Amino acid sequence: MDLFEYQGKLYFRQFGIPTSAGEVADTVDAAVAAAEKIGYPVVVKAQVQVGGRGKAGGIKLADNADEVRLHAGNILGMDIKGHVVRRLWIERASDIAEEYYASFTLDRSRKQHMGMLSAQGGIDIEAVAAKDPDAIALLYVDPYKGITEDAVRDWVARAKLNPAATEGAVNVLLKLYACFKDGDCDLAEINPLILTTSGAVHALDAKVSLDNAAEDRHPEWEAFTGLEVLDERERLAKEKGLQYVGLSGTVGIIANGAGLAMSTVDIVNQVGGAPANFLDIGGGADADVVANALTVINTDPNVKSIFINIFGGITRCDEVARGIVQALGMIEHTAPLIIRIDGTNAPEGRAILEQHQSDTLRMLPDMLTAAKQAVAIAAQ
Ligand code: GDP
Ligand code: MN
Repeated sequence: MDLFEYQGKLYFRQFGIPTSAGEVADTVDAAVAAAEKIGYPVVVKAQVQVGGRGKAGGIKLADNADEVRLHAGNILGMDIKGHVVRRLWIERASDIAEEYYASFTLDRSRKQHMGMLSAQGGIDIEAVAAKDPDAIALLYVDPYKGITEDAVRDWVARAKLNPAATEGAVNVLLKLYACFKDGDCDLAEINPLILTTSGAVHALDAKVSLDNAAEDRHPEWEAFTGLEVLDERERLAKEKGLQYVGLSGTVGIIANGAGLAMSTVDIVNQVGGAPANFLDIGGGADADVVANALTVINTDPNVKSIFINIFGGITRCDEVARGIVQALGMIEHTAPLIIRIDGTNAPEGRAILEQHQSDTLRMLPDMLTAAKQAVAIAAQ
């Protein structure tokens, strides 16, 4: 589960990681009230789960109530790379001397925790990695042994942060590791981690991804799930128990199995289309599951065609075909369906769908042709 910046900062605070005083606001009036309480200058920050908010105009400094009103009004409802801003985080503005990058994640191949630290922060870490990989200092941690202060001190030295930041950085990094490990994160990232003009080191941004497999250990995560749900499509999919991720394109996608669903997203991109979603209907594709999948995709006004990509393994194609036909009887109307169905009992499955072929239900023999057709229809 990915957290919004403000949720990440609230999580950071539980582990003692310093952040600026701040509050969430859903309306312009609430933003002004928060700013009055916090004290000026403040930063008005769009809460969307996408990077580069600053460049997109989603982060603005404000010196008084009028400026908060102006910026909050502009940012609420703003579309940042397909994410609509529904909530703001208002925080006390910091005086920045330097911006660093710090994160912990899991290195699966090494079976170790991996810290990344760089004196070049604030910008995309991928850009730093591409241009100047030596500017990122790595720290590997054996999860069974844990971290030591000495190791962190050495890491900070290797990253060549300003010596004035050393003590503050060591403090934050030890706490960030505790947050990552005890807080069961897949990723705990601070970009930028700042050194202020008065010598303090604190987190100016927060990117936290929680490990869903650890949900049982964290009843307190409930608070995040309630607030996390801002995309209507994803809310509905969750309610219906579907593995769904909303995207911003026009080709709806239904596939069985996460691997095939990802390949389907890739191939739609490859032939010049834009997927509207990732949706894995899993193994047993009965009529209810297909109907639920179509219902969720139907709520997305951007969808112009729906690519159903099925490979029968244990699931038999004739069962899936029957499921699709039944589901169509349960659903009012959808964008045209492009179906590719292959694998176990494919001929039987195709024979069933054959009888229902029309302008709005087309069957194609292979994945590439089907993807091209779905993209062509979406482009009309
Ligand atoms: P992102 O662009 O979505 O990663 O959003 P960030 O929260 O990382 O902010 C982007 C940039 O805005 C930072 O790198 C800072 O340069 C600037 N910024 C954010 N908060 C403050 C602040 O309190 N004071 C100042 N001076 N700049 C800020
Ligand atoms: Mn950032």
